[in-house]
Amino acid sequence: MVHALIIGGGIAGPVTAMALRRAGLDATVFEAYPRGADDAGAFLVLFANGLAALAAVDADGPVRACSFPSRTVEFLGDTGATLGTRPIAGPGDGPSPRTLPRAALHRALREEAVRRGIPVAYGKRLVGTAAGPHGTVTAFFADGTRAEGDLIVGADGIHSRTRALLDPAAPGPRHTGQLTVCGRTRDTGHRVPPGTYRMMYGRRGFFGCTTGPDGTTYWFANVPGGELSAAALASRTPGRWRRHVVEAFADDGTPAAAIAAATGDDIVGLNVYDIPSTPVWHDHHTVLVGDAAHATAPNAAQGASMAIEDGVVLARCLRDLPDAGRAFAAYERLRRERVERVVALSAAMAGRVARSAGERRERDADVERGMARDTAGSTDWLTGYRIDWDARVH
Ligand SMILES: Cc1cc2nc3c(=O)[nH]c(=O)nc-3n(C[C@H](O)[C@H](O)[C@H](O)COP(=O)(O)OP(=O)(O)OC[C@H]3O[C@@H](n4cnc5c(N)ncnc54)[C@H](O)[C@@H]3O)c2cc1C
Repeated sequence: MVHALIIGGGIAGPVTAMALRRAGLDATVFEAYPRGADDAGAFLVLFANGLAALAAVDADGPVRACSFPSRTVEFLGDTGATLGTRPIAGPGDGPSPRTLPRAALHRALREEAVRRGIPVAYGKRLVGTAAGPHGTVTAFFADGTRAEGDLIVGADGIHSRTRALLDPAAPGPRHTGQLTVCGRTRDTGHRVPPGTYRMMYGRRGFFGCTTGPDGTTYWFANVPGGELSAAALASRTPGRWRRHVVEAFADDGTPAAAIAAATGDDIVGLNVYDIPSTPVWHDHHTVLVGDAAHATAPNAAQGASMAIEDGVVLARCLRDLPDAGRAFAAYERLRRERVERVVALSAAMAGRVARSAGERRERDADVERGMARDTAGSTDWLTGYRIDWDARVH
């Protein structure tokens, strides 16, 4: 049986492993961090396309069990006035998007992979690869160990080592000029009605929040800012991030600053990057999936769903085509255009900054027009996308 070495146990890694298993291949997942590593504050939304891709390999159940649905999105301008409300999903979208902590998604996917008999090895940071004599490939890890298999799937995220090994000239992540801060609190007096995302256009940033069934409010803030060094990020306390967000939204009439001010230490801030296009996705024994191939800014909330789709499509290609080289080429052909379109969409959303009162009025009118367009199904190409697991890839 073909054995895939999957580098990275985030989202793409466990999903690819489960999909490969379903396609009749063997897989082992190698994750750099020790078991149980967590991300304070960070959370994700999975849209209908990502949920459907999980369902294609029967892996949506555990994710549904630790997430909650949203049906409505409401937009506020910087004065606090409501610009409009619309269904969060388009008419043909299927299941409502679901929100969950990022660590819960990682845990649910890894546990489901292990339940299906897929080994997940922790503390295994890939440092190198080498082709073996009989078409095999070896992965070398920072702890001095190695693993041998038939192919390598690089699911090691935006700062992918696999990508650098595949193509040392590959462009690295591009900083988008944005910082994003995520928080969770039960103490805010501002509860969003169940099943609703409240999005707020501030004068100096964009803020979104929703309240889960247990009363926890999840929020994120996208604010302009230069790239912070790893040391600067590591030394920033939750209190400092809180002040940053409170100050950014203090002059608005929205509840954004008050929600941030009511949050304790469950706050994390990050540089925002994307990768518009990675020239080389594969050679004859290594292939990239998820953020390793095409990271997107979080504005369209689609990076995790794209990573899930990648894993399922790659498994179909390896199931149906006679060798890894042809399978990888088919996978790239099926995926590249779609994921690069998503990265461009998200970058355009990130770049929408209104500085003057006139620009803000124009933006508010644009949001209202955009709501009418979205309701009419202009995002069907994105969230209406479905993978037919049983269809053969030629
Ligand atoms: C603030 C923020 C909000 C977001 N919100 C959303 C959202 O709402 N919806 C959405 O769909 N997407 C969202 N995204 C994007 C989403 O998080 C990513 O697209 C998604 O996590 C990509 O999955 P992945 O498996 O490719 O990478 P990751 O989830 O990053 O997983 C990569 C894994 O590889 C491991 N690893 C790294 N290097 C090595 C190595 N050398 N050896 C072994 N293992 C390694 C890492 O430890 C990690 O576990 C958001 C991103 C950010 C930053």
